[in-house]
Amino acid sequence: MSKPSRWVYAPGPVIVGAGPSGLAVAACLKEKGIPTVVIERYSCVASLWKLKTYNRLRLHLPKQFCELPLMGFPSEYPTYPTKDQFIAYVEEYAKKFDIRPHFNETVSRAEYDQNLGFWHVKTIGLMAEETEYVCRWVVVATGENAEAVVPEIEGMREFVGDIRHTSLYKSGEDYKGKKVLVVGCGNSGMEVCLDLCNYNAKPSLVVKDKVHVLPQEMLGTSTFGLSMFLLKWLPTRMVDRFLLIMSRLALGDTTRFGLYRPLLGPLEHKNLLGKTPVLDFGTLAKIKSGDVKICGSIKRLKHYTAEFVDGSTEKFDAIILATGYKSNVPSWLKERDFFSEEDGFPRGTFQNGWIGERGLYAVGFAKRGILGASMEAKSVAEDIGRCWEAQAEHDPISFARPLSDAIRQWNEN
Ligand SMILES: Cc1cc2nc3c(=O)[nH]c(=O)nc-3n(C[C@H](O)[C@H](O)[C@H](O)COP(=O)(O)OP(=O)(O)OC[C@H]3O[C@@H](n4cnc5c(N)ncnc54)[C@H](O)[C@@H]3O)c2cc1C
Repeated sequence: MSKPSRWVYAPGPVIVGAGPSGLAVAACLKEKGIPTVVIERYSCVASLWKLKTYNRLRLHLPKQFCELPLMGFPSEYPTYPTKDQFIAYVEEYAKKFDIRPHFNETVSRAEYDQNLGFWHVKTIGLMAEETEYVCRWVVVATGENAEAVVPEIEGMREFVGDIRHTSLYKSGEDYKGKKVLVVGCGNSGMEVCLDLCNYNAKPSLVVKDKVHVLPQEMLGTSTFGLSMFLLKWLPTRMVDRFLLIMSRLALGDTTRFGLYRPLLGPLEHKNLLGKTPVLDFGTLAKIKSGDVKICGSIKRLKHYTAEFVDGSTEKFDAIILATGYKSNVPSWLKERDFFSEEDGFPRGTFQNGWIGERGLYAVGFAKRGILGASMEAKSVAEDIGRCWEAQAEHDPISFARPLSDAIRQWNEN
């Protein structure tokens, strides 16, 4: 590593990311009296929700499945809180546990020093100033959605209209009366289509893969909650069969509208391939009525035109890429055992995917939303708590003291 302008010794863990996952770990550790340093590249907590989501967004799952540890949602919040309510809740959470992230610092490198037995976490600030944190534990909480995935489509640079990823889409207001091609039929793509319809735009949806669309609610309760309940008593395949029957009754045969279902049921598909089923918030009705048109894959773009693989062509004013996100961990974490270099996710399963070697942890990568992240945050805090206590017992003056003195001297010189 090149020489940083400042070194900081962190007696407790360094947590990378001040989203719901990072804050949840910090809060659980705070309860145990363990100090943390939380590092965040943007100037706010919950930056994904604040800076990169559309205005009409609400929690997709009922609030009881999206709570962070140790603090519930305000009782007056609706079942599906709005984006602003969720952000207010997360901000209040940080305030309650007095979590003060180091904002505007991007972690550019984290590496374990075998000789010293410490992690070195290097950050770059807004003025390119570098800081190196030295610590025993690193918690990776940079999220499954750290960077937008922007596919390379032939002729993209020739397309004259606006092309943007959903992370930059705010509302259909800017698209009134326009023909918009939405690429990708996950939850975001489907919801953006609905939003565009509500603002009298004319969306077409590119559906490349097979997809499970489920109603948001079944039998008067959330589909997610019902599935979780049934899974306590029944095997996944049986619950899947139930979900498919109920979806057929509520939504009809989606293949008639060009939305083909995968062979595996929705939960099995999610478990094996990590693909979340799409919850219908009203887009399907718009597809049925013809307000949203379904298209196949794009072959190439040109001027204002998209040419599709079936040979058809159509003019569009704008393109919105609902093509998802990816982890950015491989770009900064110099560790290849725990995290996969290919997708930037821990290699383990939900049961063991949160704990690595040498004081390395991950929270929020299990594709189980905020509920999964909260469970992992508790496990991480328990584990670090045990190490912290053991260290205090066997080494009360802490062997890190000389290191922290050396760093102080370094900074002073
Ligand atoms: C549109 C949308 C709707 C969703 N709805 C739901 C829902 O209803 N329920 C649910 O459970 N989940 C939902 N999710 C899933 C989502 O992943 C979680 O809501 C949640 O934000 C994940 O929290 P996180 O802290 O793991 O990640 P994030 O919220 O992404 O936070 C990670 C933080 O790390 C920071 N960071 C990244 N890299 C660095 C770096 N190198 N250095 C410093 N900081 C860095 C980021 O800036 C960010 O603030 C939704 C996601 C999206 C995109």
